[in-house]
Amino acid sequence: MSATPDPIISRHVAVIGAGASGLVTARELRREGHTVVVFERGDQVGGTWVYTSKVDSDPELTRTTVHSSLYHSLRTNLPRESMGFMDYPFLAKDDPDRDPRRYPGHREVMMYLQDFTREFGIGELIRFETEVVHVRLVAEEEGFKWKWKIKSKQRLRLRLRGKDENETVVEKEEIFDAVVVCIGHYTHPRVACIPGINEWRGKQMHCHSYRVPEPFQDQVVVVIGSSESAFDISQEVATVAKEVHIAARTVLDGVFGKQLAYDNMWLHPMIEDVNEDCYVYFQDGSFVIADIILHCTGYKYHFPFLETNGVVTVDDNRVGPLYKHVFPPTLAPWLSFVGLTYQTIPFPIFELQSKWIAGVLSNRFTLPSQEEMIEDVEIFYTSLEASGTPKRYTHRVTNIQVGYNTWLAGQCGCPAFEEWRKQMCYDTFKRRLAQPRSYRDEWEDQHLVLQAQKDFIKYNS
Ligand code: FAD
Repeated sequence: MSATPDPIISRHVAVIGAGASGLVTARELRREGHTVVVFERGDQVGGTWVYTSKVDSDPELTRTTVHSSLYHSLRTNLPRESMGFMDYPFLAKDDPDRDPRRYPGHREVMMYLQDFTREFGIGELIRFETEVVHVRLVAEEEGFKWKWKIKSKQRLRLRLRGKDENETVVEKEEIFDAVVVCIGHYTHPRVACIPGINEWRGKQMHCHSYRVPEPFQDQVVVVIGSSESAFDISQEVATVAKEVHIAARTVLDGVFGKQLAYDNMWLHPMIEDVNEDCYVYFQDGSFVIADIILHCTGYKYHFPFLETNGVVTVDDNRVGPLYKHVFPPTLAPWLSFVGLTYQTIPFPIFELQSKWIAGVLSNRFTLPSQEEMIEDVEIFYTSLEASGTPKRYTHRVTNIQVGYNTWLAGQCGCPAFEEWRKQMCYDTFKRRLAQPRSYRDEWEDQHLVLQAQKDFIKYNS
């Protein structure tokens, strides 16, 4: 962190999205003295954590209208102590309507985000059912300063004579000093390119649209992917399906072939090709005749509203160029992104990214020069290339998250991840591999829970 002699300045800032990242960003911006408007196209806070049984009907998986990709049975993959915001612990509540488990169901996370919203009075900053449809740079009339023009569409439901509802859409254009994009990245499906898929006559779907296992009753299912969703969904589908065949590019700790703990699950290398008779051939020459292919192959970053004259692009799922996954150097600090990184502990990272943005916007923290930021980004991209990391993994920070977090905390002059939090996540990861079916209910890191609870006292007194 470096202090500057410039006065602290309050900016007019637009935050797009009221999921976990948008909520904490709004809080940090307001704490720093900025005026904030949060645009949220849904009718409540929580983003991903607002479960819906609705699914997108587009069989080509190209158009999405449903935001959340949660399935009904989903429980968190992190223990609540380490998942919550650093200064607003995700504590179990003594309330019969709440889920007290260490790895709670999705509704509990949504309720935690509602609590957070209430606690910090963020609701008053949010315009619900207001979608941002266009964001572009405009020059101020005087001088060379740039501003952002945001066009939004707000859905208003008018109640006529007490019962009929009439929907109107109100379009608005407004000017802001800065925009922070917090729209998440688990909505727009990425699907694997499979030779022969255009002739495939079986069903296919993406896990974005997976909610419950019942539709897979007695089916032969091929699940593509080795992510956590692929992991959870395969296990659940196996309770009703005839057979589940997982095709994975990378297998962290598994053995190809029949899975010992299941009667009806096999692990295969990736798919070689498929044909119109519903044959699925794997790269080791084995094959199955399947009813459905379920793509658990990740998501695309997608910012349809953002016009930056080509400054920020999405290329093979790399959003760039971005300094430390947050600021495009030539538009910094007026445009920023919170929450692009993944395979990390999301909420505390959002908290630090947004503290950094808020402090930079007010002049309390200084960014390096544009040239230095560009150079830093180039060095980062070169290092990814040198290590053979494909562009699409640019924002995957698994192995560097501790360093990244410590760096961000250093910029903000605040504490980095607590030792117990790091250790807890590491233990969880190991247990998830060793005991995928029971890691959420059986653990041995009680000593870390106690350390966390001791730490949390300072936020509750
Ligand atoms: P989101 O929650 O997606 O919120 C984005 C918001 O932006 C939405 O409300 C959306 O309506 C709004 N929006 C989008 N476009 C516009 C627009 N144009 N105008 C206005 N509003 C807009 N994380 C964990 O920490 N623990 C877990 O156990 C965990 N499990 C997960 C399981 C699944 C299946 C998935 C998909 C994710 C999981 N995550 C988990 C990651 C989770 O996505 C993040 O923790 C976090 O909730 C993301 O928050 P966000 O605010 O960045 O995005």
